[in-house]
Amino acid sequence: MTAKLIDGKSLAAATKARVRGEVEAMVARGLRPPGLAVIMVGANPASEIYVRHKRNACRECGILSVAHDLDASCSQNRLLELIDQLNADPAIDGILVQLPLPGHIESPAVVERIDPTKDVDGFHPYNVGRLAQRRPFIRPCTPLGIVRLIEQTGLDTYGRNAVVVGASNIVGRPMALELLLLGATTTICHRFTFDLEDQVRRAEILVVAVGKPGLVKGEWIREGAMVIDVGMNRLPDGKLVGDVEFETARQRAGWITPVPGGVGPMTVAMLMSNTLESALRRQER
Ligand code: NAD
Repeated sequence: MTAKLIDGKSLAAATKARVRGEVEAMVARGLRPPGLAVIMVGANPASEIYVRHKRNACRECGILSVAHDLDASCSQNRLLELIDQLNADPAIDGILVQLPLPGHIESPAVVERIDPTKDVDGFHPYNVGRLAQRRPFIRPCTPLGIVRLIEQTGLDTYGRNAVVVGASNIVGRPMALELLLLGATTTICHRFTFDLEDQVRRAEILVVAVGKPGLVKGEWIREGAMVIDVGMNRLPDGKLVGDVEFETARQRAGWITPVPGGVGPMTVAMLMSNTLESALRRQER
């Protein structure tokens, strides 16, 4: 079997086009366009690339993006004050703090300071709690993008064995909660899992988010499984690869996401969609 490719790039482009259309319709009704504040502390090369993608996507969608680039030595209090100002700013619908933050700043305190109704990344404990209690409010972008990719394949997820490899707050954990919402029988693996191969072999839906190239061997993939590779790893030759051995995995899988062009573009598209929803809630409902 050769897997069908799950094309995140196309779905992300379609999602952004839909957002743009809805933003134009809002403006035509006399509402203001959505506003997204993007805060970056210090200069981390990977973060700069992600932030640039997010700002470009805002431009494509007609969303107003407001950059707050703070010095790496910025104090936690200064950052919290900025968040307070943005929480109170009626032109701002979404606040995004690019992680990781420098070591002297406690990320949880910063994330918790964001008004949960403006937390378009979906990382605030309120939003994670709502997802855990099956009443999602703002949903974390990467797992939500993966849900949209799974939905697009038409796979009936109810009762299926889903395995998530990686248990981070931003991907693995909320992903497992999303898979539960999809009715899948969900297992989470992490660095202390004894026999990763055994778990992966059982997976009908496999989501890998670790950050180690080639961690999941192609021969471990169950015949016909859906493979979602979240990993983004830059090899010494400059090539970008995921966590799953792609060429061998695609011989066994039913569906597989490429890296790049799979999950990555969907994350940004979901950020745009979350920001639009937040703006509509604030102005219309
Ligand atoms: P993280 O470092 O916060 O978490 C990694 C997880 O992997 C941990 O839960 C850890 O227990 C687990 N792990 C480590 N070694 C393992 C092993 N040998 N076996 C099983 N589990 C193991 O990482 P993260 O922020 O969740 O990111 C993971 C990857 O996804 C990275 O490559 C990152 O660049 C990528 N990512 C991509 C997107 C996207 O939009 N495409 C978004 C976020 C993260």
